[in-house]
Amino acid sequence: MKEELNPFKIAQQQLDEAAKVMDLDEDMHAFLREPMRFLQVSIPVKMDDGSTKTFIGFRCQYNDARGPTKGGLRWHPEETADTVKALAAWMTWKTAVVDIPYGGGKGGVICNPKEMSEGEKERLARGYIRAISRFIGPEKDIPAPDVYTTPQIMAWMMDEYSKIVGYNAPGVITGKPLEVGGSKGRTDATARGGMYVLREAAKCCGVELKENKDKMHKSYAELQKLEETTPAEHPVTIAIQGYGNAGQYAHLLLKRVFRNAKVVGLSDSRGAIYVKEGIPCNKAMEIKDQKGTITAYPGAKKISNEELLELDVDILVPAALENVIRKDNASKIRAKIILELANGPTTPEADQILHKNGVMVLPDFLANAGGVTCSYFEWVQNIGGYYWDFEETYERLDKKMSQAFWDVYNTQKAYFEKDKDIDMRTAAYVVSIERVAQATRTRGWV
Ligand code: NAD
Repeated sequence: MKEELNPFKIAQQQLDEAAKVMDLDEDMHAFLREPMRFLQVSIPVKMDDGSTKTFIGFRCQYNDARGPTKGGLRWHPEETADTVKALAAWMTWKTAVVDIPYGGGKGGVICNPKEMSEGEKERLARGYIRAISRFIGPEKDIPAPDVYTTPQIMAWMMDEYSKIVGYNAPGVITGKPLEVGGSKGRTDATARGGMYVLREAAKCCGVELKENKDKMHKSYAELQKLEETTPAEHPVTIAIQGYGNAGQYAHLLLKRVFRNAKVVGLSDSRGAIYVKEGIPCNKAMEIKDQKGTITAYPGAKKISNEELLELDVDILVPAALENVIRKDNASKIRAKIILELANGPTTPEADQILHKNGVMVLPDFLANAGGVTCSYFEWVQNIGGYYWDFEETYERLDKKMSQAFWDVYNTQKAYFEKDKDIDMRTAAYVVSIERVAQATRTRGWV
């Protein structure tokens, strides 16, 4: 792996830059640059053909000053120790920016689940938990699903852990199916959290999003049944890059919770489309489902993914890949707000250009923190043994995400008043690092 692309080095550099802006003291800075604990385990698994295959797994508990570590488990053929460490660092900042009482963690197993049977996956899931069981728990470290891991895998892991400790321990892991302690509202929580952040951000950017107050906290299924309307006056135009999980949920939520949201551009890996009159979500999802690509949408103008990013819209939602907004195209972005549902869509050079041009970037670890916030709610419900309905879950999510936006925005403003013109991403780092550093100090560690 090339040094400049090493994700852990990137995570350390981001910390270094924020530390400079906030004058973080040297000892604290040195402590926050390294994970507090990193485990590597080997997991022998009996395969269906009778052989035994040994898999390598990782778990990183980056920092637990604010509470038990929290973060997903990735099953990927190219998983590396440094990727896991970087993602655990980013989880530390993400849980801190939304102010949930967690630290950051991440785990992974080097494997290709697409080539494994259900039985092999179950044995790997249980083996991984046996290998790390002493280090995790509802009060220590709480994994969750991530790349190529599913609610079913979480259920096997929770079951194995419960067998080891000798009682039901649903709070050891989140992202479980509803019948074994999952939370209502988890499926669209990432996009939903993004909507709440966007609603608040619009108020500061002269983008007049008109909310449907009575729809803000309705379940996805209820919203899906509502009649589709086309905004007649003062539409707020939107383009979404990526039409998978995050992109499709965002499309429906935007259209239902705001009266004047008009999604004019959509894309997937096969290309992009533009429809001046707006794209209804039920029809778009049907086309994607039936034809496998949004580019088959009838009557739409076909454009490239590059052109989609440069459309003359009010809001741009990257919901696909990393590094799509770069030095070479950042100055061509015309949106007033960028809602980063994807992880890492904007490079550092592009960030500088966008900030100079007055574009408000809602950074990934704030914009897509709705998922982990809802995971926290799942854990709270597991520990309390009392379960909430959709409305209650979303009301609480709304409160957390809105507060997180204002904490970051007000920090940016406070720095500006001190003659430090920082962008929203740096402001979000400052908020998070300050919270983690404060807890670290109060505990007397540094
Ligand atoms: P997904 O695999 O369901 O969807 C990805 C979409 O991006 C697909 O429609 C794919 O066709 C499209 N795509 C791929 N290459 C593209 C390209 N070059 N140009 C345009 N579109 C392209 O993935 P997802 O779960 O929706 O995740 C998308 C992003 O959101 C990722 O960065 C992910 O880390 C982030 N995210 C997702 C969640 C979640 O809950 N799903 C949570 C946090 C962050």
